[in-house]
Amino acid sequence: MKALVKHKAEPGLWLRDVPEPTIGPGDVLIKVLRTGICGTDLHIHSWDGWARGAITTPLVLGHEFVGEVVDTGRDVTGVKRGDRVSGEGHLVCGTCRNCLAGRRHLCRATVGLGVGRDGAFAEYVALPASNVWVHRVPVDLDVAAIFDPFGNAVHTALSFPLVGEDVLITGAGPIGLMAAAVARHAGARHVVVTDVSEERLELARKIGVSLALNVSGATIADGQRELGLREGFDIGLEMSGRPEALRDMIANMTHGGRIAMLGLPAEEFPVDFARIVTSMITLKGIYGREMFETWYAMSVLLEGGLDLAPVITGRYGHEEFEAAFADAASGRGGKVILDWTA
Ligand SMILES: [Zn+2]
Repeated sequence: MKALVKHKAEPGLWLRDVPEPTIGPGDVLIKVLRTGICGTDLHIHSWDGWARGAITTPLVLGHEFVGEVVDTGRDVTGVKRGDRVSGEGHLVCGTCRNCLAGRRHLCRATVGLGVGRDGAFAEYVALPASNVWVHRVPVDLDVAAIFDPFGNAVHTALSFPLVGEDVLITGAGPIGLMAAAVARHAGARHVVVTDVSEERLELARKIGVSLALNVSGATIADGQRELGLREGFDIGLEMSGRPEALRDMIANMTHGGRIAMLGLPAEEFPVDFARIVTSMITLKGIYGREMFETWYAMSVLLEGGLDLAPVITGRYGHEEFEAAFADAASGRGGKVILDWTA
């Protein structure tokens, strides 16, 4: 089968013929229809410091996908041939304290699909049935392909109750945009999104945020004044991993404000902890999705009318992967989809 492979420990990706994956008794084999390109894949493509430390070659990339089940292991129940599925990209150990308590997203021994084992940028992918999410109601294929990052957005946005609250989102990449859509849909009063890309801020406006603020020319305090906020933001969703974004967020929160952080900083950086203490701010780290409470929330949010269409801005055949990766790495658009049936 064709697969996008990190074939050598150097920048680049290779579309190669590799053996089809085999399945064990608890696994399912999935014919991949469409995949989404994630920041993780960009790191592996460019072979930066993180990728050099985390990846062993050869590796089939990819963890955001939708496909159709074509085979099931003998012990599999609840998933059958022909089911349209997406996959939870974190494979958990099942035996640590958190796994045994049903808190699988807190597993200490998580292995990432397309990171620690061969992934979904291929014509077929094998996955434990326990990692498969069956789409019980019809979902647009492009949206189904990005359930994994959509789950990051939902997990982050719904970390704290936000009905009637003023929400600040730093970073208008695909997950920030999806989080903005979720916050809007879930009943926030104001949703303010910041970025330095006018193209991405325009996508945020399409989603219907209260204010899309270009922080290369304005401050978050300016945004507060424009909306008439007097006491700061109640909820912060940090999606950029940028030191200045978190610092600005902390400086613009109300007393007792709550911050969920999904953006992954590249290195350590100082923040004003005195402000966190005296403003009694809660900071919560988010990694992945709650299995499978977040997945349930995603499906029903879409059924309830949540629209992610503005977030998807690039569509390519899998053979055009170089153009697709360049699009995703540009930092200007939304989500980029690879079609494996084209
Ligand atoms: Zn575990």
